[in-house]
Amino acid sequence: MIVVGAGIVGCTVAHQLARSGARVHVIETRQPGQGATRASAGILAPYIEGHESAALRSLGRRSLDLYDAFIARLRADSGHDVIYQRNGTFQVAFDPADVERLSALSAALSIEGVENRWVPPGLFVNHEPLVSSAALGALLISTHGFAGVTSVTLAAAAAAEKLGARFKTETGAIRIYPMPADRAGVEAGGAAWDADRVVLAAGSWSSRISVEGADTVPVTPIRGQLVQLQAKPGAMRRVIWGPTGYLVPWPDGSVLVGSTVEDVGFDESHTEEGVRGLRAAAAALVPSLADAPLTGVRTGLRPRGPDDLPILGRSSVVPGLIYATAHYRNGVMFTPLTVQLVDDLVFDRASDPALHDLDPARHGRL
Ligand SMILES: Cc1cc2nc3c(=O)[nH]c(=O)nc-3n(C[C@H](O)[C@H](O)[C@H](O)COP(=O)(O)OP(=O)(O)OC[C@H]3O[C@@H](n4cnc5c(N)ncnc54)[C@H](O)[C@@H]3O)c2cc1C
Repeated sequence: MIVVGAGIVGCTVAHQLARSGARVHVIETRQPGQGATRASAGILAPYIEGHESAALRSLGRRSLDLYDAFIARLRADSGHDVIYQRNGTFQVAFDPADVERLSALSAALSIEGVENRWVPPGLFVNHEPLVSSAALGALLISTHGFAGVTSVTLAAAAAAEKLGARFKTETGAIRIYPMPADRAGVEAGGAAWDADRVVLAAGSWSSRISVEGADTVPVTPIRGQLVQLQAKPGAMRRVIWGPTGYLVPWPDGSVLVGSTVEDVGFDESHTEEGVRGLRAAAAALVPSLADAPLTGVRTGLRPRGPDDLPILGRSSVVPGLIYATAHYRNGVMFTPLTVQLVDDLVFDRASDPALHDLDPARHGRL
C-alpha cells in the first residue's frame, strides 16, 4: 500500500493499514505532521454551532464515539504520550441574543439526546474564573474535547513505523496512474512505485497531484492562523468559545487561540493583522491573557471541498486509488472514522452507508 501525504490523515491511515497487516509506504513532500495538521487546534466538537449540516453532524458524532479507542490504540502501539482531553466545551454568551441562541441550541441538543447544560453566570465563574465578568453564562457540552494534533500525528507515524511502515520524506508525488491488475502507480521524486492500493491524503495539495484520466480533485486551501500563549497550568479547564475566537487550554498551560479563515491560495505565512486579531480575541474572552507571553504562531491550509464534506472513497477512474482528502475544518474530529472507512475500502470489506455522502464521483470524474 502507498499513502501519499503524512498529515494527520495519512499518518493515522498508515498506522491502521500496518495494523491490519499491510506493507505500507508513505510518501511525503516534507516531514510528517506538516500541512494543516501543524496548525490545528484539535477541537473535537461536532455539536458546536455552525455544524448545521446533517451529514457533518452525523459523521462527527460517529467519529467522536470512536475517539477513546483510537487514542488508546495509538498510545499502546507507539508508546508515546498523546494529548487528549474529553471534559467538554463552553460556548460563552456575552449578550441577550447569544443567551437566546445558545438556549435554543441546548434545547435542540437535549431532544437529540446530547448531554449538555446551560451554566448561568453565578455558577460559570466557579468553572472558569478567568473568563471576562461580562459573560452572561455558557453552554457546556460535556462529551466534547480536544486532541494535541501534532502528538497524535507523530504517535501514529511512530506506531506505523514500529509495525513496518516506511516513510519516504522530502519526496513529492507528482502523478498517480492505473497499472495492470487494478494496481496503481505513483511517480514521485524521479522514481516510480506501485501498489495494490494508493491512498491520496495530501490535504490541500491533493489538487496538485495529477491522476491520469481524472478531473483535478476540487480542494481549495483555506488558510488558518493560530497563536499559542503561555498561561499558568490549570488556569482554564475546558475549550472556551466566544464570539470572535476560541481558546484551547493544554495541561501544561499552553493556550491555543484560533483562528483565521482566509482564502489566499497556497500562502502558509502568518500576518501581523492575524496575530493581533487573535490576541485581541483571547483578551476579550480572558482579560488576563492580554499580557500572556506569545510562544508560537502557526498557520495551516485547510483542505476545503465544494460542499465542506470530505472526499473519501474509491476512484472510478484509477481502480487502485482511494481518495481521503478535503477534511476542511474537521479533519481531526473526523480522523478515527476516516481511518476506519479507508481500512474497510482497502481490504474490500462491507461498504459503509456514510460513504454515499463522501463519494468522490459527486464532484465529477474522480
Ligand atoms: C488553524 C486551524 C485550526 C484547525 N482546527 C481544527 C479543529 O479544531 N478541529 C478539527 O477537527 N480540525 C481542525 N482543523 C482542520 C484540520 O487540521 C485539517 O482538516 C487536517 O489537518 C487535514 O489533515 P490532512 O492530513 O488531510 O492534510 P494536511 O495536514 O494538510 O497534510 C497533508 C500532507 O501532504 C503533504 N503533501 C503535499 N503535497 C504532497 C505531495 N505532492 N506528495 C506527498 N505529500 C504531499 C503535505 O506536506 C502535508 O504534510 C484546523 C485547521 C487549521 C489550519
